[in-house]
Amino acid sequence: MPTILSCIFCHSNESSSVAHIVPESLGGKNSPIGRPGVTCDRCNQYFGQKVESKALQSFPFNGYRLLKGVPSKKGRFVRMDTTLGQVQASEAPGIIQLEPRNGQLKNLVETERVSQFHLIAEVTEPLAVVRMLLKIGLEQLGKHYYDVAVSDRVEEARVFARRPARSDNWWFVLFTEPSEILDTKVQGESAIEIREQKGVLVSVMRLPGVTTIVPLEKRALPPTQGSLPEPLYRIIQVVC
Ligand SMILES: [Zn+2]
Repeated sequence: MPTILSCIFCHSNESSSVAHIVPESLGGKNSPIGRPGVTCDRCNQYFGQKVESKALQSFPFNGYRLLKGVPSKKGRFVRMDTTLGQVQASEAPGIIQLEPRNGQLKNLVETERVSQFHLIAEVTEPLAVVRMLLKIGLEQLGKHYYDVAVSDRVEEARVFARRPARSDNWWFVLFTEPSEILDTKVQGESAIEIREQKGVLVSVMRLPGVTTIVPLEKRALPPTQGSLPEPLYRIIQVVC
């Protein structure tokens, strides 16, 4: 009989169901499957409802889902505000529908006097985004190094993901390449990698055009502002 693991977040050992490590809404259908039991069903449900649903509405993931045309698990397409009005993805990657903000803009678009819009590329839900990234990283860690994922070494990351305390903080690095996101030939494959960088565990998640780097240990220091080329790289500081 296979050993049933206890959940790395709440120690429950009541579930052994199989789930994707990267949410399906990010093209996770082809993404790696977690090791059963690393996260219990209850914690998975909590993250899905309280954390992922918010994070997926925030840049960069909303823009990614919009331009790649990735539907949610329930088949819904993301909507997003732009300078001209709301846009929505369609089933064809790269083709999006625009609902101009008002009649005047509608007219300008229809007569092709306006042919460009700008996405509002701001991480509006940094707390939900970093918590989702931590959960993904810890699950990947738990898949291959379960003993490390339940150890004190990543205790603070587990707590910040599941139940962050008021005024506690974390950070992540976001790297976006719009041309890769816009390339409809590039499919939504996702990859996660756990690395040890200067003695600190970090989780790197790669989607075409969007890379995030989050430390799994609190003692990691963020790169100094200005050391990475902006706006491609951004260091996002998050306070709960
Ligand atoms: Zn749990």
